[in-house]
Amino acid sequence: ASKNPHETEFLQAVEEVAETIIPFIADKPKYKDSNLLETMCEPERVFMFRVPWLNDKGEVQVNRGYRIQMNSAIGPYKGGLRFHPSVNLSILKFLAFEQTFKNSLTTLPMGGGKGGSDFNPKGKSDNEVMKFCQSFMTELSKYIGQFTDVPAGDIGVGGREIGYMFGQYKRVQGEFTGVLTGKGLQYGGSLIRPEATGYGCVYFSKEVLNHINDGLDGKSAIVSGSGNVAQFTVEKLIQNGAKVLSMSDSGGTVYDKDGITQEKLEFIKELKNVKRGRIKEYADKYKAEFHEGKTPWDIKCDIAYPCATQNELQVEDAKTLQKNGCIGVFEGANMPCTADAIEVFKEHKMMFTPGKASNAGGVATSGLEMSQNSLRLSWTRDEVDERLQGIMKEIHRNCVQHGKVTKDYVDYVKGANIAGFVKVADAMLAQGCV
Ligand code: NDP
Repeated sequence: ASKNPHETEFLQAVEEVAETIIPFIADKPKYKDSNLLETMCEPERVFMFRVPWLNDKGEVQVNRGYRIQMNSAIGPYKGGLRFHPSVNLSILKFLAFEQTFKNSLTTLPMGGGKGGSDFNPKGKSDNEVMKFCQSFMTELSKYIGQFTDVPAGDIGVGGREIGYMFGQYKRVQGEFTGVLTGKGLQYGGSLIRPEATGYGCVYFSKEVLNHINDGLDGKSAIVSGSGNVAQFTVEKLIQNGAKVLSMSDSGGTVYDKDGITQEKLEFIKELKNVKRGRIKEYADKYKAEFHEGKTPWDIKCDIAYPCATQNELQVEDAKTLQKNGCIGVFEGANMPCTADAIEVFKEHKMMFTPGKASNAGGVATSGLEMSQNSLRLSWTRDEVDERLQGIMKEIHRNCVQHGKVTKDYVDYVKGANIAGFVKVADAMLAQGCV
């Protein structure tokens, strides 16, 4: 903590991992004596840079850009770019740290990284977003490459931003390579990549429920967020017969007692991805309740999927969920539940899956996009979807192997941390002190 003052989110993420890894390595000298956990907490490299750009009025704007190259023991750095005004070093280091474990869990050869900027795309014109992305990539292009570091999207970075950044990388470096994932289908993107995090999260929750001979059909679900992860979590839940009661954004929550249907979801996709509007418009159109400025956690449900942002589900929310009869919480976002909220789930033996396991489908499919780019081939939708389902099953199997407590209870936090750690740690040991 003294080395990283004020980095609260980073320390929170490290603490959560350390709590399970320290007891695990206590009787394993090969890990304990080589100070691996401490080494993993130090990024291999951090870039921070100025991003100047001109707004539509011709005024100079300045933002700060970052790329954290956290760990390359098992493959090139891989992880998203986040554009949000809250972005700082602590948030990106926490995300890069988590990413290292997550990528290890996917079974694919990807190291951990993360980056982004405090740029706020909300309220900016297309032209301004393009100018910003071009300036950001002009600098970032010096540090990334298909064999070194392959960024993707995250909050505030979707298909539009990836397109502008890919174009600028190609222009600056003079090469057409798979340097970013989440690309458009016309220029090297993979089918199912946009859907993968949300779909993967639901596949994972299905595995968790199957493990106790239960399923999704007929379950009431609440989802937070209305961006990429939330939209496709809701879509897959609907396809599996669950009734989705809520979605949200930073303005508040919509509560639709009749359930969000595919048709209503299409309205949300158009509203959020094309018109870039607010979720409140859904409540107006479909006569649903709108809970201004609130999260969805006080809505009675069987299962919950936090899919918006870090620390959005706190201890009081966890208690409310438990009292209302919720049996499982599956993280679609990264670290949406605070440590004391997770304690409540544990205490009551509720099912809980950390983002590094349940949202790993996104980066796994990014890995599949990299494979297709290297092969210069495109797989069909079904082929990618099948691989994604296979990977989520494998992650679940690994979590159970390392996290099983009793026949019916799995500690997925422990399982995911240990399974993720072992592969990276063994690779680091094999490569020596580098
Ligand atoms: P998007 O930008 O598409 O959507 C983010 C959603 O969360 C929006 O509804 C947004 O509302 C809401 N949100 C963001 N910040 C806040 C905040 N501070 N308070 C309240 N609501 C907020 O992002 P994604 O869907 O891609 O990402 C969501 C989460 O999933 C993040 O934690 C991300 O790291 C994680 N994730 C994403 C992956 C991906 O493939 N995209 C992969 C793995 C994890 P508003 O529009 O009002 O800001």
